Amino acid sequence: MRREELSFTATNRTLGPTTSFLQMNTNNEQHLAPAEATIPAPAKVKHILVVEDERTLAMGIRDALVHAGFHADVAFDGDSGLEKCSDKEYDLIVLDLMLPGRNGLELLKALREKNHRVRVLILTALSEESHILQCFEAGADDYMTKPFSPRELVARIHAQFRRGPGNSSESTPIPQLDLPHGISVDLARLEIHRDGNTTLLTPREGDILEYIIKHNDKVVTREDLLRDVWNYRNPNVATRTVDIHIVGLRRKIEPDPSEPTLIQTVRGKGYRWYA
Ligand code: CA
Repeated sequence: MRREELSFTATNRTLGPTTSFLQMNTNNEQHLAPAEATIPAPAKVKHILVVEDERTLAMGIRDALVHAGFHADVAFDGDSGLEKCSDKEYDLIVLDLMLPGRNGLELLKALREKNHRVRVLILTALSEESHILQCFEAGADDYMTKPFSPRELVARIHAQFRRGPGNSSESTPIPQLDLPHGISVDLARLEIHRDGNTTLLTPREGDILEYIIKHNDKVVTREDLLRDVWNYRNPNVATRTVDIHIVGLRRKIEPDPSEPTLIQTVRGKGYRWYA
């Protein structure tokens, strides 16, 4: 495990965070030191922060993430978690809710108030729908309940990174898109421009919008979104998850969120892009 961590650090330092996927491929075909040549070529090692006060569990999650190819740090309470987020730019936070000091929900709200767009996956023993909805309303991207399978946690995290900015995944990013009412959407930068103002989208909101736009020839159901965007294996659960994200997205993109015209509701079925 230690050797693996050292290798990741070395790869990062050698190639630098802005090295593109293509450059990495080229470099790997040339003469890298053996320790570096054995590393598969990820576009960029993702940095994850685990905020969890049960130390054994925290270290177990950390090990599972490092094993899956991520770089992982750990914080054992909410305050030091928030501190770490201002010291370093993480790609994702695995966040427990019941924490000493500042709890997970407070930490999430503090991040979003600062316009922090880091992906947040809640991992908690609290399984009531009210807790789940509260977290999504506060800007969480995903929610898993304990006990959990580390494999599923890793799968959910990979799903978070499948699309989004700076990601050389299989999906072709949609270039800037001009919409009615002088609105334009830049999915690569996760920005909405209107009347000279810029509104930021969370990566998950960007994923949803991109999915709906790319499937503009059909009605996108909640199940489609849960399966393809959230990577849920059992999309029959938590369909309200989708509704809450759509409400948040409409607040940012629609000229009048109470009468949505861009992301249209098809009653009893799902959503349809206006075009
Ligand atoms: Ca806890």
